Amino acid sequence: MNDRFANAISSWREALGSENVVLEPEQLVSAATATFHTGRQIRAILSPDTRDNVQACLRTSNRHGIPIYPVSAGKNWGYGSAVPTADRCVLLNLSKLNRIVDYDDKLGFVRLEPGVTQAQLYEFLLEKGGNFWMDATGSSPSSSIIGNTLERGYGHSPYADHFAHVCNLEVVLANGEYIQTGFGGLENARAQSVFRWGLGPYIDGLFTQSNLGVVTQMTVWLMPVPDHFQAFYFSVEKNSGLPAVIDSLRPLKLRGVVSSALHIANSYKVLSSIQQYPWEKTDGKTPLPISVLKELGKNWEFGAWNGAGALYGTRGEVAQARKQIKKTLNRKVHKLRFVDDTYLQLAERFQAPIEKLTGMDVSRMLRLVRPVHELMKGKPTEKFVASAYWRKKIPIPQHMNPDRDGCGLIWCSPVSPIDGGDAMALANLASDVLLFHGFEPGMTMTLLSQRCLENVIGIAYDRDIEGEDERAMACYHDLLDRLVKNGFYPYRLGTHSMDRCAAWGSTDRKFLQSLKDALDSNGILAPGRYA
Ligand SMILES: Cc1cc2nc3c(=O)[nH]c(=O)nc-3n(C[C@H](O)[C@H](O)[C@H](O)COP(=O)(O)OP(=O)(O)OC[C@H]3O[C@@H](n4cnc5c(N)ncnc54)[C@H](O)[C@@H]3O)c2cc1C
Repeated sequence: MNDRFANAISSWREALGSENVVLEPEQLVSAATATFHTGRQIRAILSPDTRDNVQACLRTSNRHGIPIYPVSAGKNWGYGSAVPTADRCVLLNLSKLNRIVDYDDKLGFVRLEPGVTQAQLYEFLLEKGGNFWMDATGSSPSSSIIGNTLERGYGHSPYADHFAHVCNLEVVLANGEYIQTGFGGLENARAQSVFRWGLGPYIDGLFTQSNLGVVTQMTVWLMPVPDHFQAFYFSVEKNSGLPAVIDSLRPLKLRGVVSSALHIANSYKVLSSIQQYPWEKTDGKTPLPISVLKELGKNWEFGAWNGAGALYGTRGEVAQARKQIKKTLNRKVHKLRFVDDTYLQLAERFQAPIEKLTGMDVSRMLRLVRPVHELMKGKPTEKFVASAYWRKKIPIPQHMNPDRDGCGLIWCSPVSPIDGGDAMALANLASDVLLFHGFEPGMTMTLLSQRCLENVIGIAYDRDIEGEDERAMACYHDLLDRLVKNGFYPYRLGTHSMDRCAAWGSTDRKFLQSLKDALDSNGILAPGRYA
């Protein structure tokens, strides 16, 4: 340990207490392990529990010129987990800042710190009477609301676009000073939790997907529980049926008939959410033969594409929207089903007689539908994390941790307009590249806003097989290059591919660099992140 680092460690210990400055090699290695190879090392882990302590950490980093990388829960699985964007950073673990500091039951908002997890907010809202729903992602209940929002992640309900539903950020800058954005910066501003823009330039976006500050508080808007909720599910039998469905759904999104995010998953993706790779059916061969995929699709009754969305409103509004969806999707999809809470409760209650009478496998249907149904009502679930174990030969453990268990997973998430031709081009391109490299092209298409579609492609593999890390990364780079060549840029990057931002040479790079130079002249905060 050199003198500079030793001095920084003593300052951090003094500010946080020794127990909050970790140097144990085992813990450092574990924090530097992602779902793909990074080769990066972490020098220490700091765990402040107040904003003052975060400020002290940054001041010390600055004084000694030591790079520091913030994470909220560090569950950025598939995009780099808790691993920093540069080697030999100190990790600023914000999970101990985990207070819900405000709740307004009239206007529906909470004010949170970065360590607040999906599960924590969900439980909190239930305790407060369950009048508001949060939006949940398909990631772990123990992932962070703020961490996800700062990556501009998304979920499933009408509040799916997380960054579109927050305001009033408290941000510690690299020099240790802090600011509040929007009206939050104006003393006694009555609308600070409800008005996003403040006065003058809107700056909140500068602290998402950036390395300009550490967010220590944020106000998050919540969705009032509707009178009636009804989910709908459909499948498309053939791959070639996708464009017609996307083009039919576009007007429904544009006109606000469907306000939830609408997720459409291909057969590979659905299969990996319900079971692990069928090694016994394939004699250990990969990628999955199409005949096996078809056989399993028939057994589980899913199609080439499988959609899920939800309707929220009064009974009348939901009925009206249902009518329009039925009319629009008529003949374009297979098995359009509308499912509400009563339907599920009855199915659960009368499972045995229904199975006896109809031969339908009700328990399997419930296992499949229940978590998606609840997710669309803002209830986080561990269920989908299991898909990270798709190619693993070990059984899925009760306490899942894809980093620890050698699960290989790299997400690639290009964006396109809601356009059938674009969606099909994306799907075909991704399928060709992944199959060529020997991986199953599991993917989802999410109609997130009225006009745009976010596609998430997963490269899932077993890190314990020699050479798989390299093969998967080669596949990822090939995929990303070809997507970008065709105009499909990702909405978010993994910590291993941040250099792409510079390589693509967007016109705002110089502007952002001058901000970085002004705010962090020593370059200590999250070096390389989206830079
Ligand atoms: C099966 C599965 C399903 C998933 N489903 C989804 C999904 O539906 N939607 C989705 O969006 N993602 C999804 N993910 C990806 C990922 O797990 C989530 O996005 C998760 O929320 C990110 O981890 P986190 O919340 O712990 O954030 P963190 O890892 O804590 O943060 C992410 C990044 O943001 C920055 N950051 C974090 N906190 C701060 C801060 N306070 N100040 C400044 N910078 C900060 C850091 O650079 C960090 O690397 C999924 C992953 C898996 C494996």
